[in-house]
Amino acid sequence: MPFTARRSTVTTWVGGVPVGSSMPVVVQSMTNTDTADAVATAIQVVALARAGSQLVRVTVNNEGAAAAVPEIAERVRDAGVIVPIVGDFHYNGHLLLARYPDCAATLAKYRINPGNVGGKRRDENFRTIVSIAADHDKPVRIGVNWGSLDQDLLTTMMDENAHAANPLGAKEVYIEAMLASALRSAELAEEVGLGHDHIIISAKVSGVQDLVEVYRRLAARCDYPLHLGLTEAGMGTKGIVASTAGLSILLAEGIGDTIRVSLTPKPNGDRTEEVLVAQQILQSLELRSFAPQVTACPGCGRTTSTFFQHMAEDIQGYIRERMPSWRDERPGVEEMKVAVMGCVVNGPGESKHANIGISLPGTFEEPKAPVYIDGRLATTLRGDTIVSEFLGILEDYVSTHYTARALSSADASSATTTGSSSRMISPVKPISASRS
Ligand code: SF4
Repeated sequence: MPFTARRSTVTTWVGGVPVGSSMPVVVQSMTNTDTADAVATAIQVVALARAGSQLVRVTVNNEGAAAAVPEIAERVRDAGVIVPIVGDFHYNGHLLLARYPDCAATLAKYRINPGNVGGKRRDENFRTIVSIAADHDKPVRIGVNWGSLDQDLLTTMMDENAHAANPLGAKEVYIEAMLASALRSAELAEEVGLGHDHIIISAKVSGVQDLVEVYRRLAARCDYPLHLGLTEAGMGTKGIVASTAGLSILLAEGIGDTIRVSLTPKPNGDRTEEVLVAQQILQSLELRSFAPQVTACPGCGRTTSTFFQHMAEDIQGYIRERMPSWRDERPGVEEMKVAVMGCVVNGPGESKHANIGISLPGTFEEPKAPVYIDGRLATTLRGDTIVSEFLGILEDYVSTHYTARALSSADASSATTTGSSSRMISPVKPISASRS
């Protein structure tokens, strides 16, 4: 067995989504719109859900946000999207949830940060939120964060450590304070009346090694489902790689029941990137399948034109655009493997390992592109229509290898709206005359 079996947990239902070790690891994300702007937030929730986010969190930071939550949920439903919406509360969650019962009833889960539920009245405010959750039969995530750790608890533990016979290092105390904050809060939540299976825990830090250490300890001390995420992961390559590194280590050890990749988008950037990265982490680890995987070589001096890069990009883009329809109509297609290779060195070999693969001619090779299907040479393409012909072959493969699911009229309409776009290259049926 390549990875450690999943750590055993109870199952916590968030709306209709089960989170726990007997279920696939759940992908989630968070909006970055002003929640009080119900239209903009609903649009982003829909985009995140359509990208594959199974839970979408919105910040509920003020009265306008709390008042907007029911409208957001209604707009999302009206768009034909079913996704549990989670409320993220800091400082004033006890007030907002009490004043806005429709918000409390609409949200599928409340995230509570024990570090900022109130100074002297921390426990009282925490109890208020948990009581409302229990009354509405909602789960909570107790989300401890390195950057907003309960300072009273930390100070107490630092003082105790200073007087201990064998004091720990400051970082050790910090980690232990995070765990204590999470686990004591969970204990308090259960005392208030929340079910043991209504609690998810996270303890996020921004360093990969610290993240692994914190979650290993947390995993050993409870059986609550764990929400994994590297907090403040950052932008671009750094954010993606650091999140992947931290989450992959833990997931390979069987730790983690739901993940979020906290990427900082570029200004006006696409928020759904964090969903695609989270999915790719799970698919690369072979824990889940979301979309056909394209194996493409990096290219080198043997393939000096940009044709190969364009082709790899076009095929990857085509598959991404077709997936909403394929996912509905062709169950199992997400397991398909496609190879797009730059020359004969590794091209035919890699293509044979894929369901369908194409190997382009390198710079000094004969201008032909062999296509392999299920390990056998199926045809060889030539000329200017290699890409569109290959896409035609790909469509044929999907329609002949993945059984069509019967569509209702509503499904058919949805498939139409989420299917191919005008940006795509149209596939053409392979023309027999162009084959060798
Ligand atoms: S398959 Fe060919 S083009 Fe691609 S990296 Fe290898 S040698 Fe270079």
